[in-house]
Amino acid sequence: MPFYMDIVQHYGKKAGDISAVLRAHYLVHARILPWRTPPGSPAPPNPYHVWLSEIMLQQTTVAAVIGYFGKFTQAWPDFAALAGADDADVMAAWAGLGYYARARNLLKCARIVVAEYGGALPAEEEELRKLPGVGPYTAAAIAAIAFGQRAVVVDANIERVVSRLFAIGEPPLRAKPIIKQAMDRITPAQNSGDFAQAMMDLGAGLCSAKAPKCAACPIAPYCAAYQAGAAEAYPVKLAKKAKPARFGTAYWIERDGHVLLVRREGRGMLAGMRALPDDRWTARKDGDRLSPFASNWRILGQTVQHSFTHFTIEMRIAVTEGPPRSEYGEYWPINSLDKAGLPTLFMKAAKAVLTGR
Ligand code: SF4
Repeated sequence: MPFYMDIVQHYGKKAGDISAVLRAHYLVHARILPWRTPPGSPAPPNPYHVWLSEIMLQQTTVAAVIGYFGKFTQAWPDFAALAGADDADVMAAWAGLGYYARARNLLKCARIVVAEYGGALPAEEEELRKLPGVGPYTAAAIAAIAFGQRAVVVDANIERVVSRLFAIGEPPLRAKPIIKQAMDRITPAQNSGDFAQAMMDLGAGLCSAKAPKCAACPIAPYCAAYQAGAAEAYPVKLAKKAKPARFGTAYWIERDGHVLLVRREGRGMLAGMRALPDDRWTARKDGDRLSPFASNWRILGQTVQHSFTHFTIEMRIAVTEGPPRSEYGEYWPINSLDKAGLPTLFMKAAKAVLTGR
């Protein structure tokens, strides 16, 4: 049996100690976050807030989510309000947060919750997993945090803490099920939501990817990696593959203080979002450099760069004056472009044009 499984078994027996020490630490040091109910609070957590924050936090930092969470809960305070929202308004409000499939699933999910569950999220992990946009991690987090169910929650921060706690030295794919098993061992029957959030906070604070602050860590006495003087050796990482680099063009078509925006097709990247017209670049191919119409195009001296999950793109910007009417899209006032809900890449292109003036 590998070394770390001995440790899982050994410290697994001390699971009660680990969760008790961590809970005591969490009661004092929990991060104050707008979607959280402070530990020990008599008010139950708001499942809508927990769900919304968990969807927003998928692949996105807490700092980036806080403003969006406030904006969404103000505009749509519950499932019923969100289910009745206009798709375009929700997509526009999501603009800049990235991974836009989440916004489409958010709406689908809210509508299912209203139509099939009477406007209240189901509490069971299995039932939650049937909802659009709710994968195994999110279902476990909602069940534990919003409904107090015992669930084994493993996000990226928890993965790092557990792999260090038990010195799990397997490569990522093989490590995942072992980490889940180890987390299962130490998750308490009661307050598993607080426990999960305490582990998340530990990973986001003391147990950082680089230079973890082990001397201040409440579970250092149980941490195999720390005891071995090798905290930063875990989790094991594979060398990153370089992302494919694409090249494309965005078209800035201006007329009387307005710029032409299109609505992207309902499938594929950034589907349904407003955008500048482009030359049909995708994750797999460069743009074809064919402009929407013949004109006296001027190529801007600067390009914009953007990184998606699977590729990066460098985009040049072609500028011209547009016809009075256009079959391609709608003219949008330039001085309220921030309300158009453009994805970040196109906002960067707009800024490049406007700051160059
Ligand atoms: S002792 Fe260090 S490595 Fe171990 S859990 Fe705490 S901060 Fe992380």
